[in-house]
Amino acid sequence: MPWFRKKLKGPVIQPPREVPDGLWAKCDKCGEIIYKRELARAFWVCPKCGSHFRIHSGQYIEILIDEGTFEEFDAEIGSVDPLSFVDSKPYPVRLKAAREKTKLNEAIICGIGNIDSISVSFAAMEFGFIGGSMGSALGEKVTRAVERALERRIPLVIVSASGGARMQESILSLMQMAKTGTALTRLHEAGLPYISVLTHPTTAGVMASYASLGDVIIAEPGALLGFAGPRVIQQTIGQELPEGFQSSEFFLDHGFVDLISPRNELKNNLSKLIRFMFESPK
Ligand SMILES: [Zn+2]
Repeated sequence: MPWFRKKLKGPVIQPPREVPDGLWAKCDKCGEIIYKRELARAFWVCPKCGSHFRIHSGQYIEILIDEGTFEEFDAEIGSVDPLSFVDSKPYPVRLKAAREKTKLNEAIICGIGNIDSISVSFAAMEFGFIGGSMGSALGEKVTRAVERALERRIPLVIVSASGGARMQESILSLMQMAKTGTALTRLHEAGLPYISVLTHPTTAGVMASYASLGDVIIAEPGALLGFAGPRVIQQTIGQELPEGFQSSEFFLDHGFVDLISPRNELKNNLSKLIRFMFESPK
């Protein structure tokens, strides 16, 4: 029997075994095959198990910022190679590949935009750019985003996704932890709110600096959060780690995260918090 007749007989058209790029996506958690258009409508959250797919920095702008209000700043800033660092590849080769892949100069987009008609200094990290790592240019961009909030007296929102400091810049990347932290202290002293949004994964140097310094810290469900990996911690403290350790839910239970927000409620939650903490200048 020809294959098309077999297919017509069945009540449901099954997706092909080989999932072509561009049409279908497979949920890593439950294995469900989902039509990508349906996923996009659901903010890239699996309709079966609620798992949050990792999305790009530009998609966070689409989801969280009022349409047509985002103005990007500092797009030209990107890391150079101050240490002439070579691991398996020279650092400039990695940078070039990341720039071609993401169409960004750095692992973060920064700008000004409205959340529910309130102007905010907004930044979203791009995990696809060398694992969302923080080098000296990224630290500079975050610092400028903080300073932009200070200058305009507006709230700051940063969506983080990061594997940590960028090892190719060694101590220069670690110094960004102090630099961004100091800038955020000035924002705090000026009485301006900072909301940090943690997405999967937010770890290491970024988690240990600006991502964990929010006045309010929101996490997406099921995100991996933490400083060092579980194996390193287990070896250091010589104890078994509890189940679910390093998840958004564990962090909420232990007071490190204030709220877990599904992605489809994130904008509404940000809007409510900003309105509660901040009164726009009349
Ligand atoms: Zn799923």
